[in-house]
Amino acid sequence: MSSYHALSEQEATAYARRLPDFFAPDAELSCREIGDGNLNLVFHIQDQGSGKSVILKQALPYAKVVGESWPLTLDRARIESEALAVQGRLCPELTVRLIAYEPELALTVMEDLSDHVIMRRGLIEGRRYPHFAEHISEFLARTLFFTSDLGMNQQEKKIQTGRFINPELCKITEDLIFDDPYTDSENNSFDEAIRDEVERIWQDSALHLEVMLLRQKFLTEGQALLHGDLHTGSVFVTETSTKVIDPEFAYYGPMGFDVGAIIANLLLNYAAQTGWKEGADLADYRSYLLQTATSIWEQFHVKFSSLWDEQLVDRMAATPGYKEHYMKQLLQDTVGFAGCKMVRRIIGLSHVADIDTIPDASRKEKAQRLALAIGKTLIKRNRSLASIDEVLDIVQTQW
Ligand code: ADP
Ligand code: MG
Ligand code: MG
Ligand code: MG
Repeated sequence: MSSYHALSEQEATAYARRLPDFFAPDAELSCREIGDGNLNLVFHIQDQGSGKSVILKQALPYAKVVGESWPLTLDRARIESEALAVQGRLCPELTVRLIAYEPELALTVMEDLSDHVIMRRGLIEGRRYPHFAEHISEFLARTLFFTSDLGMNQQEKKIQTGRFINPELCKITEDLIFDDPYTDSENNSFDEAIRDEVERIWQDSALHLEVMLLRQKFLTEGQALLHGDLHTGSVFVTETSTKVIDPEFAYYGPMGFDVGAIIANLLLNYAAQTGWKEGADLADYRSYLLQTATSIWEQFHVKFSSLWDEQLVDRMAATPGYKEHYMKQLLQDTVGFAGCKMVRRIIGLSHVADIDTIPDASRKEKAQRLALAIGKTLIKRNRSLASIDEVLDIVQTQW
């Protein structure tokens, strides 16, 4: 089994059986393909006797979403495993544990997190995760600081940047987030019910300028090693634990893209809740979501700032006023990227289940319009914002 081919469940099981010091030689293994993505196979393999289990994730050479006609590099499996190694070193408690990587098969072997739930699913069900803001702000602060020129030797960082050149996955982001939603592209996918608002967005050149400035940052600013796809479907949670998965889009990019991604997905769920809850329940859950989003920024700010004070490797960066300038720019980037991530999930190719699975058509339309209104305003206002409280005001006045 040397050269690449997509594994069958039998082959995945045989591969898992050969993992060194993992399963007993005579273990009775079961295997299920559980991937919900469009790009990869995910095999769950379990010993029926001991219950011990493992996950095998295999990259496919094409994107399933548009058939086999869209080829996609297998190198992303290497990027994913190398990013998991970096994140796992910086945040061992907050990253899925990497067990092995098999380049020939584009296969990543990792810890089974089936005792956790995907956060998007948990939020749709209206669950609360009291430690999530604390955990994800820690993940963001440490992974972004220590892979940037603030926390890493500048020459070493340039070498690292070369290991995470990820042109094909970056292009997906460049197209689906920073291009298609703003024009009548055949990649778009939106409900006819909101066509009026979508066409307004296509005509809005002031909005397009802000999107272009954010796109420019995504194209050119290698600030830190990003996860690159940090939505609530890339986070496994329980009430007490948070584990980040799926960094195949990792590359050196602008920090605000990761911070904005997670905040955007909380705000998409905020918009979606009009389809899931009513009255006091709705207001209550929404205030939980907004508190979580705010708290992520606030705790991130405190943690990143104290890493700056204690672990800075660039003495010029200690120049008075620079940190304040940097953090303000980072907040503005976060807000702008959050807005872009909201708009693309309504107009673009890839949607979120939070909104798409709302059963009632008129409530779904309302959620979509609210997400667009919030997203658009965050994009338009990003360069004038000075505090996270202004984001709260924007969200709460779009009704
Ligand atoms: P993709 O890149 O295709 O989105 P993901 O890494 O997000 O793949 O995994 C897709 C799905 O597979 C997840 O939503 C989850 O249901 C399952 N999965 C992935 N990794 C694990 C894991 N370590 N433990 C348990 N389930 C997992
Ligand atoms: Mg997926
Ligand atoms: Mg995924
Ligand atoms: Mg993925």
